[in-house]
Amino acid sequence: MQPKYSIVVPTYNEEANISELYRRVSAVMDRLDGVAELVLVDDGSRDRTLPLIRQLREQDARVCYLSFARNFGHQIAVTAGLNVSRGQVVVTMDADLQDPPELILEMVREWQAGYQVVYARRTQRKQERWLKRTTAYGFYRLLRTLADVEIPTDTGDFCLMDRSVVELLNHMPERNRYIRGLRAWVGFRQTAVQFERDPRFAGAVKYTFRKSLALAINGLVSFSIVPLRLSTYMGLIAAAIALLMMFLVLYWRVFEPKSPLTGFATIALAIFFLGAVQLICIGILGEYIGRIYEEVRGRPLYTLAETAGLEPANDIGRGRSG
Ligand code: UDP
Ligand code: MG
Repeated sequence: MQPKYSIVVPTYNEEANISELYRRVSAVMDRLDGVAELVLVDDGSRDRTLPLIRQLREQDARVCYLSFARNFGHQIAVTAGLNVSRGQVVVTMDADLQDPPELILEMVREWQAGYQVVYARRTQRKQERWLKRTTAYGFYRLLRTLADVEIPTDTGDFCLMDRSVVELLNHMPERNRYIRGLRAWVGFRQTAVQFERDPRFAGAVKYTFRKSLALAINGLVSFSIVPLRLSTYMGLIAAAIALLMMFLVLYWRVFEPKSPLTGFATIALAIFFLGAVQLICIGILGEYIGRIYEEVRGRPLYTLAETAGLEPANDIGRGRSG
């Protein structure tokens, strides 16, 4: 039977959260006004996450899952879940219960009121480290100034999307997926519901600092070409300074031959500074070229080792299915 609601949850080493997640999500699923499916995406976990998911599937046929052949990262896991989900309405949320499943009911009411995208905006981050809070705050504001679409601040991937939006996302060929950006890019009627972000139910954070940084750079590069212009601006500024210096040096040579501003230190400084500027600009170029290379290579986004209860569109590397 075609489900009306799909709840997509990426999981990576979440053995301590799976049963509590199921308990709270299934309670919400019971209260929805239609058939619901829970799509669990195992992102190559190395702990007992997958066996626990298999058990859930045996208990409850509304649970379906796919399991990656290795860890591909959160955004890809969400993408895979969107690819296979069948509901008219699809909700994506984290496995660690930082996103309260009960909020889904409120999101569904907004959908019924005619919105195609309902994203959850966090008003407070409970017990998240100071560093994470400030960097997240700064990043979202930087992204807002640079990006060419308006990506709502302080929203994550916890959201509800209508089938029409999910189909559009599924047909976007890009590999570097910054889902909250793509979701804003498609347009349609979008609205927010507020919530307080709870602390993690159990287990450690899976988004290491490196992964968060990679996601942030990905967001900036995927949704803005302003950094590419940076080298042009810096080049212009450097040229202006050089011109000014030329006249100054000429003046000193003629009128003040004993000027202190000629010498090794000045030259060394100027060389180091411009060297740094050039390297940074090449690095920025590299970010864009690397992404072009990834897109052109055209490898599949993920490889599947196991699925149950789903007909995946992409069945590369599919081992067994049940
Ligand atoms: N996650 C994933 N693959 C990864 C890292 C994380 O599927 O490589 C999942 C994780 O299981 C969780 C969600 O992404 O359901 C968010 O991760 P986490 O709670 O560590 O990050 P944060 O709360 O900082 O966003
Ligand atoms: Mg979390």
